Amino acid sequence: MDANVSNNKSFWTRLWHLKILLKVKHFMWRVICDCLPIKDCLLSRRVEVDSKCPVCNLIDETSLHALVFCLVAALCWKLQGVRFDSAAINNTTDWVQEIYQHSGRSEVNKIFMIAWMIWNNRNDVEWKQKGRGYKDIVTSAIHILNNWEFAQDRSFDFFIGFISQTEGNMCWKQPQTGTIKINTDAALFKIKQAS
Ligand SMILES: [Zn+2]
Repeated sequence: MDANVSNNKSFWTRLWHLKILLKVKHFMWRVICDCLPIKDCLLSRRVEVDSKCPVCNLIDETSLHALVFCLVAALCWKLQGVRFDSAAINNTTDWVQEIYQHSGRSEVNKIFMIAWMIWNNRNDVEWKQKGRGYKDIVTSAIHILNNWEFAQDRSFDFFIGFISQTEGNMCWKQPQTGTIKINTDAALFKIKQAS
């Protein structure tokens, strides 16, 4: 990771304060820290794997290739109307900075959601030999984001009277160096009333 970025508080603050699914925020943190289990990272740790990208099988896989410039990823960005200049982007930090510079908050949320879905698709191809089309990837990402935003806007305290508006509001924080942080997902469901 770029040392200038790792010490740039506003860069991280912007990520932590995005209104987006926690697992997507965590995913983007891993992208920026370059710690996704991408082929070039695994090889650098002496894990014996085929270096080729599992989606296009054309060139060696890096995070930047998998999420931005691989064939399916590039089609997703084109469909979303986003252009990334390969000559100006050398790593995932450059990529995120480019997104921050040229996109509003809502657009940043969509781009990170689509990136997360591109990563899921990459894993499905790698482990299940079953990928999705680029239109399906983008549509699914936007659909999940819209549903999540809708759920955030709803007031649930009409059926959970003992929970106030502010309780449960949490902001994900980067773990301290040398510590391991485990993130889990949880959901609340409306209790089905007996008929
Ligand atoms: Zn590829």
